Amino acid sequence: MNIYNKFSLIILSGLLITISTAYYLTISYGDIKKYQNLNSIKTQPLDTSKKYSPELKIAYTYKKKYEMQEGETFSQILRKTELNDNEIQEIIRLTKEKVDLNKLNIGTKIETLSSIENGDLSIQNIIIYPNKESEVFIFRNDNKFKIKSNQLMLYPELVYQEVEIQNSIFESLTNVDTPESIIMEFVQLFSFDIDFQREIRQGNRIKIFYKKFNDEKQNFVKTGSIMFAEIQLHNHAYELYRFESENKKLVGYFDSKGKSATKALMKTPINGARLSSSFGVRKHPILGYNKMHRGTDFAAPEGTPVMASGDGKIIRARWCGGGGNCIKIKHNSTYSTVYAHLKNFARGIREGVRVKQGQTIGYVGSTGMSTGPHLHYEVIINGKKVNSQKLKLPSGKILKNKERKLFEVSKIKLNVLKSKLISSQ
Ligand SMILES: [Zn+2]
Repeated sequence: MNIYNKFSLIILSGLLITISTAYYLTISYGDIKKYQNLNSIKTQPLDTSKKYSPELKIAYTYKKKYEMQEGETFSQILRKTELNDNEIQEIIRLTKEKVDLNKLNIGTKIETLSSIENGDLSIQNIIIYPNKESEVFIFRNDNKFKIKSNQLMLYPELVYQEVEIQNSIFESLTNVDTPESIIMEFVQLFSFDIDFQREIRQGNRIKIFYKKFNDEKQNFVKTGSIMFAEIQLHNHAYELYRFESENKKLVGYFDSKGKSATKALMKTPINGARLSSSFGVRKHPILGYNKMHRGTDFAAPEGTPVMASGDGKIIRARWCGGGGNCIKIKHNSTYSTVYAHLKNFARGIREGVRVKQGQTIGYVGSTGMSTGPHLHYEVIINGKKVNSQKLKLPSGKILKNKERKLFEVSKIKLNVLKSKLISSQ
């Protein structure tokens, strides 16, 4: 071993010692740091707002959800929970103060929050959601139950939509997320004037302006009213404005000249939203009104609700041979209507019963002499069958004088609101 080798060995050893010392120090310092961290946790001041019991307890809460089934009562649901009879009586008594228990709907949601301490379970909170807009909160306080109801904050939103009809009104509006109840209402508004099977064509336009309500997280909660609605057919446009008189005595839809949308009879006594246009329908021939066929046919899916075209009295609700299950309504001494090939009658519909316009009287079927599910609709004037689609019915209410002036003002306001919305879109 020469001197150089000896020298390098010393340097190497020195280096090794330095490295290991440094390594040792790092580890020790790390440990100290860890210890310091631990120490700082230990010295955190205790949260004195909470009471700590001296012995160690294991407590946790858990949630159970219930949904009201058909024919079930509120007390039957409570019996499914861990509440005892006295508690159930107390909760029913309290809840009655806030909710009409007889009016709770099927599907009403009820939640219980329980706590378990050392194996003992007790329900601390019961939450009832009677509708989308409110919640009723029952909570245990000093071994007694107390009740509180909260109204959820709702935020109105105005919506303006314009669509071109493709296959059906329903499909076209669903594509732009129009709520179903608004679509149904929209169609109903025009069912006095428009034959939704023969007059609607591909490319016709719809304009709709309505209100809806969202919760604070912008989730849709419920719809408000339609404020303006328009259908542009190939040769005519129908527009309707919502109008409320001062004391809300009169609420309705009127055209730009103040004529009510509502007429004595409907042109389409069936919800027209899902009806397809007559051309292109090959499966079920849609017959026109002629010498042989004195009525109007609406091809619609089996089970589609059929409405009373106007107020009146049911004078026939039975089997009519070729007409299958049929209904005849007498509206007054002049007018009657007939609905044939029904699958069945609506609940409570029988001869002698009075019905309201728009009320469901039966469901589309294919009974009697029929090639496929459709409604055969007839209008009879003084005993003579007439073409319901060519019928000029006297218009309903026409706004006059003060009401007309108020209507004009509200129409202008609506139009301003609508154009503001359009320009902001
Ligand atoms: Zn027919």
